[in-house]
Amino acid sequence: MLIFVLNAGSSSLKYQLINAQTSELKASGVVERIGIDGILKHVVSKNKKLTIEAFIPSHKEAIELILETLTHDETKTINSIDEIQAIGHRVAHGGEFFKGSTIVNEKVIKKIEELIPLAPLHNPANILGMKICMDLMPNIPNVAVFDTAFHQTMPEVHFLFPVPHEDYTEHHLRKYGFHGTSHSYVSNEAIKLLNNKKNSRIIVCHLGNGSSICAIKDGKSINTSMGLTPLGGLMMGTRSGDIDAGVIPYLMDRKNMDTHQIIDYLNKKSGILGVSGISSDLREIISAANEGDQRASVTIDMMCNRVRKYVCAYAGLLGGVDAICFTAGIGENSTLIREKVCFNLEFMGIELDDEKNQLKSSGNIEINKKSSKTKIFVIPTNEELVIAKDTYNLVK
Ligand code: ADP
Repeated sequence: MLIFVLNAGSSSLKYQLINAQTSELKASGVVERIGIDGILKHVVSKNKKLTIEAFIPSHKEAIELILETLTHDETKTINSIDEIQAIGHRVAHGGEFFKGSTIVNEKVIKKIEELIPLAPLHNPANILGMKICMDLMPNIPNVAVFDTAFHQTMPEVHFLFPVPHEDYTEHHLRKYGFHGTSHSYVSNEAIKLLNNKKNSRIIVCHLGNGSSICAIKDGKSINTSMGLTPLGGLMMGTRSGDIDAGVIPYLMDRKNMDTHQIIDYLNKKSGILGVSGISSDLREIISAANEGDQRASVTIDMMCNRVRKYVCAYAGLLGGVDAICFTAGIGENSTLIREKVCFNLEFMGIELDDEKNQLKSSGNIEINKKSSKTKIFVIPTNEELVIAKDTYNLVK
């Protein structure tokens, strides 16, 4: 069954066309700078690439262009859009309503709309993507797959914030967690690599531009580092992650900032970019550190120390750890970061094999020493495949 997977952002759209039964990726691409100028980068079966630069005024024109590209002579993947049998949408926030993926209907859209205050940047774009697809392809079912759903198994002791309880009951203030499809996919792969061990205890480190860690017991999320919003937890490309809440009024006062400015500061100007003063791209920071830039070295160590803190805390919560998994751009590619995260954790049974850590692979690999009690895996994430499979399972 061919599934069109759509990840709609405020000015970009990422998409994939996947055969959900065989997991075959038929085509993928991204439309960027919607409403600004517009560019579409389309890839068919790894080798055929196409870039279209054209003014793309809105998401509707962007989706029309994608559909045209999928059925177009040169980049033709399907003969007609009727071959698409379902559409899977990545949705940022499902609040407490959605504990799993669901078929989209008016009621579902209304609920996702109600959750906009919790994800003001993402949910509106996700809804827009659904509405346009329903309009352009009225006979094809749509499925919403939520970034938060996997973490709905977290117990109250882990999801409540230490603030007056009525703000949870009245204003839904709590930890939700994100990157759920990735944590779910990677932990499932890890469980398979552990030979379907019963009572498994897994820590997934999703380290990319946005980063989060998850503690997973018997396949279920019990705690994760992101919070009410994706600003919580680890130090990220441009996001601060956890900081003393007192920083906020202090800065607002000292620098005369309003709410919008402080949110922008913590989300877009902090993290790796803010500390290094160089870039949010970790590769550039590693190069700068190699050339002797002290602040770049400090940035790397700050980032890794925060990951280490969570790894140790979650190992404690889980009562031990069977596998630590590294995934996403940094987790999958950076031998240095994996080395720094695992450094000195032998006392916990975590022993990285330096040679295996250097191995390059497009698939899952084990990089711990034979003697290590805890397995260390590199598992490339595949959020789109999870969305395609969830969609298939709901519509088949
Ligand atoms: P997103 O959260 O946007 O999906 P990705 O998962 O693609 O992000 O991760 C992007 C990050 O991965 C960037 O900081 C990039 O520098 C980093 N990255 C990619 N390859 C490497 C590498 N070989 N070494 C270090 N960092 C890398």
